[in-house]
Amino acid sequence: MSTNRQASLRLTFLIIGGGLSGLSCAYALRDAGHDVVIIEQNSGRTRTEGSATSEPVGFMKFHDQIMSDLQAEFLIIQHEDLRQHLISLCLISGVVFKYGMAIKIIKLADGGITVALEDGSVMRGDIVVGADGHNSFVRAFVIEEETEPEHIVPGASIAISTKLMQKHEELRSLCEENQFTIWMGNGSSITGVLDNTGETFNLGICSPTALDFAVDGDWYETHDLSHLLPFDTSGYDPRLKKLIQLGHTCHPTIHKVFEQADVVGMDGTVALVGDAAHSILMHGSHNSSMAIEDAVTLSTLFSHLTDRKQIPIFLDTYEELRHARTKATQKSEYQSLLQISLPRGEAQAARDQALGLTLSTAFDDFENCESSELLVQAWEQYLILFSHDAAEEVDNWWSKWNFTV
Ligand SMILES: Cc1cc2nc3c(=O)[nH]c(=O)nc-3n(C[C@H](O)[C@H](O)[C@H](O)COP(=O)(O)OP(=O)(O)OC[C@H]3O[C@@H](n4cnc5c(N)ncnc54)[C@H](O)[C@@H]3O)c2cc1C
Repeated sequence: MSTNRQASLRLTFLIIGGGLSGLSCAYALRDAGHDVVIIEQNSGRTRTEGSATSEPVGFMKFHDQIMSDLQAEFLIIQHEDLRQHLISLCLISGVVFKYGMAIKIIKLADGGITVALEDGSVMRGDIVVGADGHNSFVRAFVIEEETEPEHIVPGASIAISTKLMQKHEELRSLCEENQFTIWMGNGSSITGVLDNTGETFNLGICSPTALDFAVDGDWYETHDLSHLLPFDTSGYDPRLKKLIQLGHTCHPTIHKVFEQADVVGMDGTVALVGDAAHSILMHGSHNSSMAIEDAVTLSTLFSHLTDRKQIPIFLDTYEELRHARTKATQKSEYQSLLQISLPRGEAQAARDQALGLTLSTAFDDFENCESSELLVQAWEQYLILFSHDAAEEVDNWWSKWNFTV
Protein backbone atom coordinates (compact mmCIF):
# COMPACT_ATOMS: atom_id res chain seq x y z
CA MET A 1 0.00 0.00 0.00
CA SER A 2 3.00 2.30 0.34
CA THR A 3 3.53 4.83 -2.46
CA ASN A 4 7.02 5.96 -1.32
CA ARG A 5 5.99 9.45 -2.37
CA GLN A 6 4.69 12.33 -0.25
CA ALA A 7 2.36 14.99 -1.61
CA SER A 8 3.81 18.49 -1.49
CA LEU A 9 0.38 19.94 -0.58
CA ARG A 10 -0.97 18.50 2.67
CA LEU A 11 -4.74 17.98 3.15
CA THR A 12 -6.83 16.84 6.10
CA PHE A 13 -8.96 13.75 5.42
CA LEU A 14 -11.81 12.87 7.80
CA ILE A 15 -12.50 9.17 7.42
CA ILE A 16 -15.87 7.94 8.65
CA GLY A 17 -15.61 4.27 9.66
CA GLY A 18 -12.71 2.21 10.97
CA GLY A 19 -13.32 -1.06 9.11
CA LEU A 20 -10.86 -2.46 6.57
CA SER A 21 -11.55 0.26 3.98
CA GLY A 22 -11.29 3.15 6.47
CA LEU A 23 -8.11 1.82 8.05
CA SER A 24 -6.41 1.06 4.71
CA CYS A 25 -7.34 4.49 3.39
CA ALA A 26 -6.10 6.17 6.55
CA TYR A 27 -2.74 4.41 6.49
CA ALA A 28 -2.22 4.89 2.74
CA LEU A 29 -3.22 8.59 2.76
CA ARG A 30 -1.01 9.26 5.77
CA ASP A 31 1.83 7.50 3.98
CA ALA A 32 1.18 9.80 1.01
CA GLY A 33 1.79 12.80 3.28
CA HIS A 34 -1.69 13.86 4.47
CA ASP A 35 -3.27 14.40 7.89
CA VAL A 36 -5.90 11.81 8.69
CA VAL A 37 -8.56 11.39 11.39
CA ILE A 38 -10.68 8.22 11.65
CA ILE A 39 -14.11 8.62 13.24
CA GLU A 40 -15.49 5.22 14.25
CA GLN A 41 -18.83 4.72 15.99
CA ASN A 42 -17.67 1.56 17.74
CA SER A 43 -15.63 1.65 20.95
CA GLY A 44 -12.60 0.06 19.26
CA ARG A 45 -12.25 -2.54 21.99
CA THR A 46 -14.53 -5.21 20.53
CA ARG A 47 -12.86 -8.24 19.01
CA THR A 48 -14.77 -10.12 16.36
CA GLU A 49 -14.52 -13.43 14.57
CA GLY A 50 -14.77 -14.22 10.90
CA SER A 51 -12.32 -14.58 8.09
CA ALA A 52 -11.34 -12.06 5.49
CA THR A 53 -10.14 -13.64 2.32
CA SER A 54 -8.27 -11.70 -0.23
CA GLU A 55 -8.20 -12.87 -3.78
CA PRO A 56 -8.78 -16.58 -3.41
CA VAL A 57 -9.81 -18.48 -6.53
CA GLY A 58 -12.64 -20.42 -4.96
CA PHE A 59 -13.72 -23.75 -6.26
CA MET A 60 -10.90 -24.38 -8.73
CA LYS A 61 -7.89 -26.52 -7.93
CA PHE A 62 -4.97 -24.17 -7.27
CA HIS A 63 -2.48 -25.23 -9.93
CA ASP A 64 0.81 -23.57 -8.93
CA GLN A 65 1.56 -22.34 -12.42
CA ILE A 66 -1.89 -20.80 -12.83
CA MET A 67 -1.72 -19.08 -9.45
CA SER A 68 1.58 -17.56 -10.41
CA ASP A 69 0.30 -16.53 -13.87
CA LEU A 70 -2.73 -14.97 -12.22
CA GLN A 71 -0.44 -13.11 -9.81
CA ALA A 72 -2.96 -14.29 -7.23
CA GLU A 73 -1.33 -13.69 -3.90
CA PHE A 74 -3.60 -15.66 -1.68
CA LEU A 75 -4.17 -14.46 1.86
CA ILE A 76 -6.52 -16.00 4.38
CA ILE A 77 -6.57 -14.20 7.69
CA GLN A 78 -9.00 -13.58 10.53
CA HIS A 79 -10.81 -10.33 9.89
CA GLU A 80 -9.88 -9.13 13.36
CA ASP A 81 -6.16 -9.90 12.88
CA LEU A 82 -6.08 -7.88 9.67
CA ARG A 83 -7.99 -5.07 11.39
CA GLN A 84 -5.56 -5.03 14.32
CA HIS A 85 -2.58 -5.06 11.96
CA LEU A 86 -3.97 -2.05 10.07
CA ILE A 87 -4.73 -0.25 13.35
CA SER A 88 -1.06 -0.70 14.39
CA LEU A 89 0.16 0.64 11.04
CA CYS A 90 -2.17 3.64 11.39
CA LEU A 91 -1.03 4.37 14.96
CA ILE A 92 2.66 4.14 14.04
CA SER A 93 2.17 6.45 11.08
CA GLY A 94 0.31 9.10 13.11
CA VAL A 95 -3.35 8.64 12.15
CA VAL A 96 -5.66 10.17 14.80
CA PHE A 97 -8.54 7.98 16.06
CA LYS A 98 -11.87 9.13 17.45
CA TYR A 99 -13.66 6.05 18.75
CA GLY A 100 -17.20 5.65 20.06
CA MET A 101 -18.46 8.51 17.94
CA ALA A 102 -21.04 8.32 15.13
CA ILE A 103 -21.46 11.25 12.80
CA LYS A 104 -24.69 13.24 12.56
CA ILE A 105 -24.30 15.64 9.69
CA ILE A 106 -21.87 16.63 6.95
CA LYS A 107 -21.82 20.22 5.70
CA LEU A 108 -19.86 22.18 3.16
CA ALA A 109 -17.86 24.93 4.83
CA ASP A 110 -15.91 27.76 3.31
CA GLY A 111 -13.11 26.02 1.37
CA GLY A 112 -13.63 22.69 3.12
CA ILE A 113 -16.12 20.44 4.84
CA THR A 114 -17.33 19.91 8.42
CA VAL A 115 -18.63 16.84 10.21
CA ALA A 116 -20.88 17.16 13.28
CA LEU A 117 -20.49 14.34 15.80
CA GLU A 118 -23.00 12.86 18.26
CA ASP A 119 -21.44 14.69 21.22
CA GLY A 120 -22.04 18.08 19.55
CA SER A 121 -18.44 18.63 18.52
CA VAL A 122 -17.63 19.64 14.95
CA MET A 123 -14.55 18.61 12.97
CA ARG A 124 -13.24 20.34 9.90
CA GLY A 125 -11.31 18.86 7.00
CA ASP A 126 -10.70 19.13 3.27
CA ILE A 127 -12.18 15.82 2.21
CA VAL A 128 -14.55 13.39 3.92
CA VAL A 129 -14.09 9.70 3.08
CA GLY A 130 -17.21 7.59 3.67
CA ALA A 131 -15.88 4.21 4.79
CA ASP A 132 -18.91 3.34 6.87
CA GLY A 133 -19.90 0.01 5.37
CA HIS A 134 -22.88 -1.40 3.49
CA ASN A 135 -25.52 0.56 5.43
CA SER A 136 -23.54 3.76 4.92
CA PHE A 137 -24.81 7.02 6.40
CA VAL A 138 -22.40 9.07 4.28
CA ARG A 139 -23.71 7.61 1.00
CA ALA A 140 -26.90 9.70 1.30
CA PHE A 141 -24.72 12.84 0.93
CA VAL A 142 -23.29 11.53 -2.34
CA ILE A 143 -26.22 9.79 -4.00
CA GLU A 144 -29.39 11.84 -4.09
CA GLU A 145 -31.76 8.92 -4.44
CA GLU A 146 -30.96 5.29 -3.69
CA THR A 147 -32.24 2.92 -6.35
CA GLU A 148 -33.94 -0.34 -5.45
CA PRO A 149 -31.39 -3.15 -4.99
CA GLU A 150 -30.98 -5.43 -8.01
CA HIS A 151 -30.61 -8.48 -5.77
CA ILE A 152 -30.82 -9.27 -2.08
CA VAL A 153 -28.54 -11.97 -0.71
CA PRO A 154 -28.98 -13.21 2.86
CA GLY A 155 -25.78 -14.60 4.33
CA ALA A 156 -24.07 -15.65 7.53
CA SER A 157 -20.56 -16.36 8.71
CA ILE A 158 -19.95 -19.01 11.37
CA ALA A 159 -16.76 -19.58 13.33
CA ILE A 160 -15.91 -23.07 14.58
CA SER A 161 -13.07 -24.00 16.93
CA THR A 162 -10.74 -26.57 15.33
CA LYS A 163 -10.23 -28.10 18.82
CA LEU A 164 -13.89 -29.17 18.67
CA MET A 165 -13.56 -30.31 15.07
CA GLN A 166 -10.60 -32.56 15.96
CA LYS A 167 -12.95 -34.65 18.11
CA HIS A 168 -14.89 -35.68 14.99
CA GLU A 169 -13.01 -37.97 12.63
CA GLU A 170 -14.89 -36.84 9.51
CA LEU A 171 -13.92 -33.20 10.18
CA ARG A 172 -10.24 -33.70 10.97
CA SER A 173 -8.98 -33.35 7.41
CA LEU A 174 -10.55 -29.87 7.21
CA CYS A 175 -8.35 -28.75 10.12
CA GLU A 176 -5.18 -30.00 8.51
CA GLU A 177 -5.39 -28.88 4.94
CA ASN A 178 -4.73 -25.38 3.80
CA GLN A 179 -7.56 -25.21 1.32
CA PHE A 180 -10.55 -23.18 0.32
CA THR A 181 -13.55 -25.50 0.22
CA ILE A 182 -16.81 -24.71 -1.48
CA TRP A 183 -19.94 -26.70 -0.90
CA MET A 184 -22.28 -26.20 -3.81
CA GLY A 185 -25.69 -26.21 -2.23
CA ASN A 186 -29.06 -26.59 -3.85
CA GLY A 187 -29.86 -22.87 -3.64
CA SER A 188 -26.92 -21.74 -1.48
CA SER A 189 -23.16 -21.43 -1.57
CA ILE A 190 -21.05 -22.36 1.45
CA THR A 191 -17.34 -21.63 1.65
CA GLY A 192 -15.09 -23.12 4.30
CA VAL A 193 -11.65 -21.90 5.16
CA LEU A 194 -9.14 -22.53 7.93
CA ASP A 195 -7.64 -19.32 9.28
CA ASN A 196 -3.91 -18.56 9.34
CA THR A 197 -3.53 -19.64 13.00
CA GLY A 198 -5.23 -23.00 12.40
CA GLU A 199 -7.44 -22.36 15.47
CA THR A 200 -10.67 -21.43 13.74
CA PHE A 201 -12.53 -22.77 10.74
CA ASN A 202 -14.86 -20.23 9.13
CA LEU A 203 -17.95 -20.96 7.11
CA GLY A 204 -19.54 -18.33 4.88
CA ILE A 205 -23.07 -19.07 3.69
CA CYS A 206 -24.90 -17.10 0.98
CA SER A 207 -28.13 -17.62 -0.84
CA PRO A 208 -29.27 -15.66 -3.89
CA THR A 209 -32.86 -16.32 -2.83
CA ALA A 210 -34.18 -13.44 -0.76
CA LEU A 211 -35.99 -14.56 2.35
CA ASP A 212 -38.25 -12.34 4.42
CA PHE A 213 -36.97 -13.42 7.78
CA ALA A 214 -33.24 -12.99 7.14
CA VAL A 215 -31.46 -10.75 9.68
CA ASP A 216 -28.96 -7.96 9.07
CA GLY A 217 -26.74 -8.32 12.12
CA ASP A 218 -23.99 -6.10 13.46
CA TRP A 219 -20.48 -7.40 12.77
CA TYR A 220 -19.40 -6.33 16.26
CA GLU A 221 -22.07 -8.43 17.98
CA THR A 222 -22.16 -12.17 18.26
CA HIS A 223 -25.43 -13.82 17.39
CA ASP A 224 -26.64 -17.32 18.14
CA LEU A 225 -27.16 -19.95 15.47
CA SER A 226 -30.93 -19.44 15.34
CA HIS A 227 -30.08 -16.69 12.85
CA LEU A 228 -29.37 -19.43 10.34
CA LEU A 229 -33.10 -20.05 10.04
CA PRO A 230 -33.36 -18.53 6.55
CA PHE A 231 -31.21 -21.32 5.15
CA ASP A 232 -32.64 -24.70 4.39
CA THR A 233 -29.76 -26.83 5.64
CA SER A 234 -31.69 -30.10 5.36
CA GLY A 235 -30.01 -31.15 2.09
CA TYR A 236 -26.47 -30.21 3.22
CA ASP A 237 -23.59 -32.67 3.30
CA PRO A 238 -23.54 -34.36 6.79
CA ARG A 239 -20.04 -32.89 7.46
CA LEU A 240 -21.45 -29.46 6.89
CA LYS A 241 -24.42 -30.04 9.18
CA LYS A 242 -22.01 -31.17 11.89
CA LEU A 243 -19.83 -28.09 11.38
CA ILE A 244 -22.83 -25.79 11.73
CA GLN A 245 -23.87 -27.52 14.96
CA LEU A 246 -20.37 -26.95 16.37
CA GLY A 247 -20.34 -23.26 15.44
CA HIS A 248 -19.79 -20.92 18.38
CA THR A 249 -20.54 -17.60 16.75
CA CYS A 250 -22.71 -16.49 13.88
CA HIS A 251 -22.88 -13.19 12.02
CA PRO A 252 -25.99 -12.91 9.85
CA THR A 253 -25.98 -10.38 7.00
CA ILE A 254 -28.32 -9.10 4.35
CA HIS A 255 -26.42 -8.01 1.32
CA LYS A 256 -28.11 -5.59 -1.06
CA VAL A 257 -26.59 -5.58 -4.55
CA PHE A 258 -27.01 -2.14 -6.12
CA GLU A 259 -26.12 -0.94 -9.56
CA GLN A 260 -22.75 0.83 -9.23
CA ALA A 261 -23.51 4.51 -8.58
CA ASP A 262 -21.44 7.69 -8.13
CA VAL A 263 -18.85 7.57 -5.38
CA VAL A 264 -17.90 11.26 -5.24
CA GLY A 265 -20.29 14.05 -4.23
CA MET A 266 -20.91 17.31 -2.36
CA ASP A 267 -18.98 19.42 -4.87
CA GLY A 268 -16.04 17.04 -4.82
CA THR A 269 -15.53 17.00 -1.05
CA VAL A 270 -16.88 13.54 -0.19
CA ALA A 271 -15.64 10.21 -1.58
CA LEU A 272 -16.94 6.74 -0.76
CA VAL A 273 -14.76 3.65 -0.35
CA GLY A 274 -15.32 -0.04 0.45
CA ASP A 275 -18.83 -1.36 1.05
CA ALA A 276 -20.17 2.21 1.24
CA ALA A 277 -19.08 2.68 -2.39
CA HIS A 278 -19.98 -0.65 -3.94
CA SER A 279 -21.80 -3.86 -3.20
CA ILE A 280 -19.23 -6.59 -3.74
CA LEU A 281 -20.67 -9.78 -2.29
CA MET A 282 -20.04 -10.40 1.43
CA HIS A 283 -18.71 -13.82 2.38
CA GLY A 284 -17.29 -13.77 -1.14
CA SER A 285 -13.67 -13.48 -2.16
CA HIS A 286 -13.27 -9.84 -3.15
CA ASN A 287 -15.08 -7.61 -0.63
CA SER A 288 -11.94 -7.01 1.44
CA SER A 289 -9.51 -6.74 -1.46
CA MET A 290 -11.77 -4.19 -3.22
CA ALA A 291 -11.70 -2.05 -0.07
CA ILE A 292 -7.90 -2.11 -0.10
CA GLU A 293 -7.78 -1.37 -3.83
CA ASP A 294 -9.97 1.72 -3.25
CA ALA A 295 -7.47 2.91 -0.65
CA VAL A 296 -4.52 2.33 -2.98
CA THR A 297 -6.18 4.20 -5.87
CA LEU A 298 -7.17 7.20 -3.75
CA SER A 299 -3.86 7.50 -1.92
CA THR A 300 -1.70 7.00 -5.02
CA LEU A 301 -3.59 9.80 -6.76
CA PHE A 302 -3.30 12.14 -3.76
CA SER A 303 0.40 11.40 -3.36
CA HIS A 304 0.82 13.61 -6.47
CA LEU A 305 -1.01 16.61 -4.99
CA THR A 306 0.73 19.94 -5.48
CA ASP A 307 -2.22 22.32 -5.93
CA ARG A 308 -5.83 22.51 -4.62
CA LYS A 309 -7.04 22.75 -8.22
CA GLN A 310 -6.07 19.11 -8.66
CA ILE A 311 -8.51 17.90 -5.96
CA PRO A 312 -11.62 17.60 -8.21
CA ILE A 313 -9.53 16.07 -10.99
CA PHE A 314 -8.09 13.41 -8.68
CA LEU A 315 -11.51 12.61 -7.24
CA ASP A 316 -13.07 12.32 -10.70
CA THR A 317 -10.21 10.06 -11.70
CA TYR A 318 -10.68 7.95 -8.56
CA GLU A 319 -14.34 7.50 -9.52
CA GLU A 320 -13.53 6.73 -13.14
CA LEU A 321 -10.76 4.22 -12.41
CA ARG A 322 -12.78 2.38 -9.78
CA HIS A 323 -16.11 2.32 -11.63
CA ALA A 324 -15.32 -0.28 -14.30
CA ARG A 325 -13.28 -2.42 -11.91
CA THR A 326 -15.90 -2.61 -9.16
CA LYS A 327 -18.75 -3.10 -11.60
CA ALA A 328 -16.96 -6.02 -13.27
CA THR A 329 -16.00 -7.59 -9.92
CA GLN A 330 -19.51 -7.22 -8.52
CA LYS A 331 -20.95 -8.90 -11.61
CA SER A 332 -18.38 -11.69 -11.55
CA GLU A 333 -18.93 -12.39 -7.84
CA TYR A 334 -22.71 -12.51 -8.25
CA GLN A 335 -22.44 -14.76 -11.33
CA SER A 336 -20.17 -17.11 -9.37
CA LEU A 337 -22.74 -17.25 -6.58
CA LEU A 338 -25.48 -18.12 -9.08
CA GLN A 339 -23.29 -20.87 -10.58
CA ILE A 340 -22.36 -22.32 -7.21
CA SER A 341 -25.89 -22.32 -5.87
CA LEU A 342 -27.61 -23.70 -8.97
CA PRO A 343 -30.63 -25.80 -8.15
CA ARG A 344 -30.55 -29.43 -9.25
CA GLY A 345 -31.07 -29.86 -13.00
CA GLU A 346 -29.37 -29.72 -16.37
CA ALA A 347 -27.48 -26.50 -15.72
CA GLN A 348 -26.09 -27.93 -12.50
CA ALA A 349 -24.95 -31.11 -14.31
CA ALA A 350 -23.15 -29.04 -16.98
CA ARG A 351 -21.42 -27.00 -14.29
CA ASP A 352 -20.27 -30.12 -12.47
CA GLN A 353 -18.85 -31.54 -15.69
CA ALA A 354 -16.81 -28.37 -16.28
CA LEU A 355 -15.57 -28.36 -12.69
CA GLY A 356 -14.61 -32.03 -12.89
CA LEU A 357 -12.38 -31.12 -15.80
CA THR A 358 -10.58 -28.33 -13.96
CA LEU A 359 -10.01 -30.56 -10.96
CA SER A 360 -8.69 -33.53 -12.90
CA THR A 361 -6.57 -31.83 -15.52
CA ALA A 362 -2.95 -31.45 -14.55
CA PHE A 363 -0.67 -29.18 -16.51
CA ASP A 364 2.36 -27.06 -15.87
CA ASP A 365 1.97 -24.15 -18.17
CA PHE A 366 -1.27 -22.22 -18.43
CA GLU A 367 -0.32 -20.79 -21.84
CA ASN A 368 0.52 -24.15 -23.40
CA CYS A 369 -1.85 -26.48 -21.63
CA GLU A 370 -3.42 -29.12 -23.82
CA SER A 371 -6.79 -28.70 -22.22
CA SER A 372 -10.10 -27.93 -23.78
CA GLU A 373 -11.23 -24.44 -24.59
CA LEU A 374 -13.72 -24.70 -21.73
CA LEU A 375 -10.91 -24.96 -19.20
CA VAL A 376 -9.04 -21.99 -20.60
CA GLN A 377 -12.25 -19.96 -20.68
CA ALA A 378 -12.93 -20.82 -17.07
CA TRP A 379 -9.52 -19.52 -16.02
CA GLU A 380 -9.51 -16.48 -18.28
CA GLN A 381 -12.27 -14.75 -16.35
CA TYR A 382 -10.16 -15.14 -13.21
CA LEU A 383 -7.10 -13.84 -15.00
CA ILE A 384 -8.90 -10.55 -15.68
CA LEU A 385 -10.09 -10.35 -12.08
CA PHE A 386 -6.77 -11.15 -10.44
CA SER A 387 -4.22 -9.43 -12.62
CA HIS A 388 -5.48 -5.96 -11.64
CA ASP A 389 -2.96 -3.69 -9.95
CA ALA A 390 -4.62 -0.56 -8.54
CA ALA A 391 -1.36 1.41 -8.07
CA GLU A 392 -0.21 0.56 -11.58
CA GLU A 393 -3.53 1.83 -12.97
CA VAL A 394 -2.93 5.21 -11.34
CA ASP A 395 0.71 5.28 -12.46
CA ASN A 396 -0.39 4.64 -16.06
CA TRP A 397 -3.00 7.40 -15.79
CA TRP A 398 -0.45 9.78 -14.29
CA SER A 399 2.20 9.14 -16.93
CA LYS A 400 -0.39 9.83 -19.63
CA TRP A 401 -2.09 12.90 -18.16
CA ASN A 402 0.21 14.54 -15.60
CA PHE A 403 1.19 17.38 -17.94
CA THR A 404 -2.48 18.48 -18.01
CA VAL A 405 -3.07 18.64 -14.26
C1 LIG B 1 -15.95 -6.40 12.70
C2 LIG B 1 -16.22 -6.84 11.29
C3 LIG B 1 -16.11 -8.21 10.94
C4 LIG B 1 -16.34 -8.59 9.60
N1 LIG B 1 -16.22 -9.91 9.27
C5 LIG B 1 -16.43 -10.30 7.98
C6 LIG B 1 -16.36 -11.67 7.60
O1 LIG B 1 -16.09 -12.54 8.40
N2 LIG B 1 -16.59 -12.00 6.30
C7 LIG B 1 -16.92 -11.06 5.36
O2 LIG B 1 -17.14 -11.40 4.20
N3 LIG B 1 -17.00 -9.76 5.69
C8 LIG B 1 -16.77 -9.36 6.97
N4 LIG B 1 -16.89 -8.02 7.31
C9 LIG B 1 -17.24 -7.07 6.23
C10 LIG B 1 -15.99 -6.72 5.45
O3 LIG B 1 -15.04 -6.13 6.30
C11 LIG B 1 -16.35 -5.74 4.38
O4 LIG B 1 -17.27 -6.32 3.46
C12 LIG B 1 -15.13 -5.24 3.54
O5 LIG B 1 -13.90 -5.49 4.16
C13 LIG B 1 -15.26 -3.75 3.32
O6 LIG B 1 -15.07 -3.12 4.58
P1 LIG B 1 -15.59 -1.68 4.91
O7 LIG B 1 -14.53 -1.06 5.77
O8 LIG B 1 -16.00 -0.96 3.68
O9 LIG B 1 -16.93 -1.91 5.73
P2 LIG B 1 -17.08 -2.50 7.20
O10 LIG B 1 -16.10 -3.57 7.42
O11 LIG B 1 -18.52 -2.82 7.38
O12 LIG B 1 -16.68 -1.27 8.17
C14 LIG B 1 -17.49 -0.13 8.33
C15 LIG B 1 -17.12 0.55 9.64
O13 LIG B 1 -17.79 1.81 9.72
C16 LIG B 1 -18.33 1.98 11.03
N5 LIG B 1 -19.49 2.90 10.91
C17 LIG B 1 -20.69 2.65 10.34
N6 LIG B 1 -21.48 3.76 10.40
C18 LIG B 1 -20.76 4.73 11.03
C19 LIG B 1 -21.04 6.07 11.38
N7 LIG B 1 -22.21 6.68 11.10
N8 LIG B 1 -20.07 6.79 12.02
C20 LIG B 1 -18.87 6.22 12.31
N9 LIG B 1 -18.56 4.90 12.01
C21 LIG B 1 -19.49 4.18 11.36
C22 LIG B 1 -18.71 0.56 11.44
O14 LIG B 1 -18.80 0.45 12.85
C23 LIG B 1 -17.54 -0.24 10.85
O15 LIG B 1 -16.45 -0.33 11.73
C24 LIG B 1 -16.70 -7.62 8.63
C25 LIG B 1 -16.83 -6.25 9.00
C26 LIG B 1 -16.60 -5.87 10.32
C27 LIG B 1 -16.74 -4.40 10.70
